[in-house]
Amino acid sequence: MENKKYWRNWLDDFQLNHPLVIAGPCSAETEEQVLKIAHDLKNSDVSIFRAGIWKPRTRPGGFEGVGEIGLKWLQKAKAETGLLMAIEVATAAHVKLAIEHDIDVLWIGARTTVNPFAVQEIADALAGTDKIVLLKNPVNPDLSLWIGGLERLYNSNIKKLGIVHRGFSTYEKTKYRNNPEWQIAIDMQNRFPDLPIICDPSHITGKRAMIQEVAQQALDLNYDGLIIETHNDPDNAWSDAAQQITPAVLKQMFVDLKVRKTTDDASEYNQKMAKLRMQIDGYDEKILENLGNRMQIVDQIGLLKKEKNVAILQNQRWNEILTKMTSEGKEIGLSPEFIMQLFKAIHQESINHQEKVMNK
Ligand code: PEP
Ligand code: MN
Repeated sequence: MENKKYWRNWLDDFQLNHPLVIAGPCSAETEEQVLKIAHDLKNSDVSIFRAGIWKPRTRPGGFEGVGEIGLKWLQKAKAETGLLMAIEVATAAHVKLAIEHDIDVLWIGARTTVNPFAVQEIADALAGTDKIVLLKNPVNPDLSLWIGGLERLYNSNIKKLGIVHRGFSTYEKTKYRNNPEWQIAIDMQNRFPDLPIICDPSHITGKRAMIQEVAQQALDLNYDGLIIETHNDPDNAWSDAAQQITPAVLKQMFVDLKVRKTTDDASEYNQKMAKLRMQIDGYDEKILENLGNRMQIVDQIGLLKKEKNVAILQNQRWNEILTKMTSEGKEIGLSPEFIMQLFKAIHQESINHQEKVMNK
């Protein structure tokens, strides 16, 4: 699938602001809650109101959404505020109901994007629609799955397309709820430069204190918009309480965020630089993560050695590692001097770790 120039048009057609701001609660809870938040977001940077009607929950027993009745509340919110309305759809039945209730934007959630059958079912139900359709990244860091979902929608002749970057799940705990893996979104942007890309800092961070930082990173990378979960009483939200912010906090955030210009050469330079730096940061984080994991294994080895009263320094093993790494490093353009320095430092830290374990 090639990049399509017209993809960007819907942003202009609706005269949506740059950045495009989508805000609203994780879930529609009551009619009063929906109307209150929508009114609080009117006359702000927000162009589109979001609310989950059917909630995909990782485990059963959580709040699974109010269902069809919520669509009526959104219709009312739209009539009263003029905001466009956005919901998540996961089945053909959801699509049918969304269209019947005049919903403007339909997004496909991360747990749905992973399933080609489900995406195809939605794409078929949407065929030829002029609704705006946003495809969230799959939960797992798989670029082709994300592209595949896009192709299914594209093949259904959906013209007003966009993607949402909401991060990727990891088994290991990180500081994010969903690791951003910026490189994957940047690859997507490079492949489809005219496809609007929206960042979801709420689901990336999982905590309200980190939202602004990630939103700024997205703007530095010239994202087209942000989707931010916003609730009148975040602490008592029925889902995703820790990551929701009030409309007042959202407004202040947009006063503080630096919106980057999209045109002019200097900003092109800055954007390129920001993208590259973000990639560097991603790799640096991985280096640290790997070193941390390596040290955990080192500690286990230390314990084993302690049990059998074996010396820490094993010269033969150390020389094998050095030889192997020097030759593999050479193949990817790393000098033997650098490999020597790097692995000496790693080795020393490993010895220090084992000494600690041995002498406990
Ligand atoms: C959501 O936006 O409320 C949601 C469920 O998001 P995701 O699909 O990214 O988890
Ligand atoms: Mn949510």
